[in-house]
Amino acid sequence: MSLRELPSVEKLANSLSKTITLPKPLIIGFIRHELNSWRQKLLDGGSATREEIETSITENLSHFSASKLQPVINGTGVLIHTNLGRSPLGKTAANALQNIATGYSNLEFNLPEGTRGKRASYLETALACLLDAEAATAVNNCAAALVIILRHLANGKKNEVIVSRGELVEIGGGFRIPEILETSGAKLIEVGATNKTHLSDYADAITPNTALILKVHRSNFYMGGFTAEPEVTELSELAHQHGFPLVEDIGSGAMMNTDELAPIDHEPTPQAALKNGIDLVCFSGDKLLGGPQSGIIAGKAELVAGIKKEPFFRAVRCDKLILTVLQESIDEYLRTQADPSKTDIPTLRNLAETTENLQARADQILSKISSLSKAEITSIASTATTGGGTMPTSQIPSIALSVTPTGISLNKLSRALRTGTPAIVGYTDQEKFCLDLRTIFPWQDDDVAAQLNNILG
Ligand SMILES: *Cc1c(COP(=O)(O)O)cnc(C)c1O
Repeated sequence: MSLRELPSVEKLANSLSKTITLPKPLIIGFIRHELNSWRQKLLDGGSATREEIETSITENLSHFSASKLQPVINGTGVLIHTNLGRSPLGKTAANALQNIATGYSNLEFNLPEGTRGKRASYLETALACLLDAEAATAVNNCAAALVIILRHLANGKKNEVIVSRGELVEIGGGFRIPEILETSGAKLIEVGATNKTHLSDYADAITPNTALILKVHRSNFYMGGFTAEPEVTELSELAHQHGFPLVEDIGSGAMMNTDELAPIDHEPTPQAALKNGIDLVCFSGDKLLGGPQSGIIAGKAELVAGIKKEPFFRAVRCDKLILTVLQESIDEYLRTQADPSKTDIPTLRNLAETTENLQARADQILSKISSLSKAEITSIASTATTGGGTMPTSQIPSIALSVTPTGISLNKLSRALRTGTPAIVGYTDQEKFCLDLRTIFPWQDDDVAAQLNNILG
C-alpha cells in the first residue's frame, strides 16, 4: 500500500468514536500517532494492507481505552488486591465523599469562631481515640508516613537507624525499606541475621549517632523454623535507656483481632504495638483498616507534633476527599467496635462473611444462568486470601463459581470477561476459570450471571 492510501485521520476517528467512548481529541491524537508510526514503517520499506492498519489501530485504541480507571468486579478471592485498588469503601463513606466533593467544606475553617481552622483536627482526635494513642495524624500512604518519620527523627549527624536484617523487606512495587531509608536521609545500620536477631545485636549497634530503632512488620512474607527476635518490650526498654525512640511500620493496621474475625492469622494491631512500648507506629489506611489510600502515624504526642511541623509534611498531607473518607471510616470503627455484622467497612464484612451465605449466592447465580453452549458451570469450595501484603499464610475458606469452557479457550473466556462492561477479573485453576464470591459484592451477582450468559450462552 502506498503512503497516499493511508486511512484519513478524520474518517477513522468518526468511525471509531461510534464504539469507543473517549473524548474525540484523544481519539484523533491517538490515531495520528499510530498513523505516523505506520507511515514510518512504510517509508522504511515495510508493507501492510489498509485493513491490517485499521484493525491494528482499532485494537490499540481499545487497549488504551481499557486503561482508563473503571469499576472492576473482583473474582480473584484476594480481598486487598493492590492491582484492583485495595479496599473498597462502604456506602456511608461514599455518601460523605459525594457530599464534601460537590460543595465547599470547613477543611481549614473554624465554623464557631469564623476564623482559620486546623486541617484534619477532628480526624486526628478520632484516630487517637480509636488507637488509644496520645496523638495521631495521617499522610498520603504508609511509605510517606515512614519517610516523614525518618526525616523528622533521623537527620543531620544523628541519623543512624537500626533495623534487623530479618526485616529489610520489599513492600511491593519494588519499594524496599533500605531505599526508603536512603530517600529520607537516614543511615541504615543492619543488625542480626536473616532468621535471628538478638537484643544484644541491637545493643551492640548503638552509637552516639543512633536516631532510632525501626521495626518493620513482615507483612507480605512468612518466616518460620529457626527464628528469633527480641520482645518489643525489651527493645523499647533498650531504646529508652539510650534516649531515642522505637518506631514500627506495622503495614496493614488491623483494628481488631483478625483471628476472631476469620480463620486466619493474628495480625498485629497498632493499639497493641503502642501498649508494648512502641513510640510511633505507621500503617496503611487502605489495607485491613478498609479505608482510603493513606498512611496513619500514631504514638507519642511530642513526636507526632514534631512530624507535623516538618516542612515536608506539607508535601505529603491528605486532600479533603481522603480526609472525608478516612474520618468516616474511623467513625465507623468507633461506632461499631469493628463488629462485622454492624460495620459498613466492606473489607471487614467480606472477611467475615460465612461460606453458607456465599453458597446461597452461588446457587442463586447458577439459577440465573441458562444452559450454556460453550461451558459447564458449577460452584466449588475455594480459598480466598487477604492479599495486599497482609497475612501471607492466611487461607480463608470460600465459595467460587467454576467454569469449564468447552466451546471457547480459557484465555478467550477470561479476556472477554476482563474487557466486558463491567470488567470481571477471576483466576484460572488447572483447566477451570474461577470467580470467588468472597470478593464479589452481592449487588454485582446479576452482572456476573449476565456476562457469563452473554459470553458462554
Ligand atoms: C503495605 C506496606 C507498606 C506500604 O504502604 P502504602 O500505604 O502502600 O505506602 C509499608 N510497610 C509495610 C510493612 C507494608 O505492609
